[in-house]
Amino acid sequence: MNIRLRLTLWYTAILCLILAIFSTAVYIGLTRNLFVILDTHLQREVSEIIGNLKFEHVAGEYEEDDEKGGGNNKPRLGQAGIELSYTPEEGVFWRLMDETGRPLIDPGYFDGASIDPAAVTAGQTRFEYATLANDTPIKLYTAPFVIEQQGKGVVQVAESYHHIQEVQRQLLLLLALGLPFILLAAGLGGWFLASNALNPIDRITREARQISADDLHRRLNLKLPNDEVGRLAATFDQMLARLEDAFQRQKRFIADASHEMRTPLTILKGDVEVALNRPRSADEYRETLEMINETTDRLTALVEELFLLARADNQQFPLQVKQLDLAGLLRQDVNNLLPQALEKKITLILNAPNELPIKADSAKLSRLFINLVDNALKYSNPGAAVTVTAGIVNDQAQVAVIDTGPGIGPEHLAHLFERFYRVDKARSHQIADADGSSGAGLGLSIAAWLAKIHNGRIEVESQVGQGTTFTVWLPLSGPDQL
Ligand code: ADP
Repeated sequence: MNIRLRLTLWYTAILCLILAIFSTAVYIGLTRNLFVILDTHLQREVSEIIGNLKFEHVAGEYEEDDEKGGGNNKPRLGQAGIELSYTPEEGVFWRLMDETGRPLIDPGYFDGASIDPAAVTAGQTRFEYATLANDTPIKLYTAPFVIEQQGKGVVQVAESYHHIQEVQRQLLLLLALGLPFILLAAGLGGWFLASNALNPIDRITREARQISADDLHRRLNLKLPNDEVGRLAATFDQMLARLEDAFQRQKRFIADASHEMRTPLTILKGDVEVALNRPRSADEYRETLEMINETTDRLTALVEELFLLARADNQQFPLQVKQLDLAGLLRQDVNNLLPQALEKKITLILNAPNELPIKADSAKLSRLFINLVDNALKYSNPGAAVTVTAGIVNDQAQVAVIDTGPGIGPEHLAHLFERFYRVDKARSHQIADADGSSGAGLGLSIAAWLAKIHNGRIEVESQVGQGTTFTVWLPLSGPDQL
């Protein structure tokens, strides 16, 4: 069942429930009110009857007079003769009795009616439903009254509630005919609204279905208002842009990586072919083998760097963070690079406090600084100096690697940390050949990644012809655990 239908059904079902409750409340409320009005009316009539009763004391033998059919034939209660001047409203039935149920004044409305005789003898006011002889449904009000020293009497007043039944019937008819129409209209309206709301989602689905990995440049480009669905489409487009970007980078990475591997492999093949061209002396073979060894070192370094970056992309970099002394770590790294510096006749200086406690992954930090210092040594001229300074600035560890080498042109600075980016390809290769690193332009991107996973960053400042400073910032409290 699709969302459109489900929404419409839910909507209609809830509306149906609300209407049912509402209709029941209206039906019950109206009926109750009409009966309250009827009851009040009956009570008023009773008051009027009792108020209009007149008693006068009559001495003598009434019964005899009555039986003789002459004389005073007024009804009487005890010793009192009763007189009533009361003209009932249209539709009001009434009678007057003594407390035993003997009629005093009875216009005969209730002859043959189904009235419980206990209503009269109960001695208290009482409402009840009954029917007249002609089947008219009535509401009957019985009220006792007392005439001082004369005795008790009872008034019964009734009125038909046929009109209330008629109102009930009409209301039921109205509800029975109206409700299905309302529900039908609401259902259609609900369907229309749900369709309107969901149509753009159908469009998104249709368009998205046509986008495959090969045409990630496509976008939905749906002109939708800036609502939930519009934002979904826009987010989808942004996601496509990110995916396309990631795909492009991946493709470029693979192309660059294979290109970088092809060069040393071609060199290897060339060296071997030259050597095999004709019989060679042992020294010549040795020379070839040394060249092969150097090229293999470069290849190994490249493969190792590629492997590291591939793991970085797959987020496989378990950081082993522990409290360590950054100054000590730098001393060790600088010591390890001293032979290389000596070889190039470069002075390598470390300016660091005795201790610089930090939380970090020592192996990864070492790799970061070695990459930077190694570059500084690589690109500096013999006789120059490379200085490494360390300290705490603004609650962060700051390590700067300063050289007085050739510097980097401002147009390169923005791209320096991109993979495979080299300022001068030939030069990088040449230098790399000499020191055994890959020279593929991966060193700085690896350093930037290592800083990033420590929640830090690298900044670079350079003046062509004067030198370059790489500054690493690291939080002392270590990376937030990833
Ligand atoms: P590579 O393996 O080529 O050294 P890097 O990513 O380490 O790759 O460096 C990228 C480029 O930045 C290098 O090709 C080099 O031209 C330039 N570079 C890096 N460090 C320095 C530096 N200290 N002085 C001058 N140029 C530098």
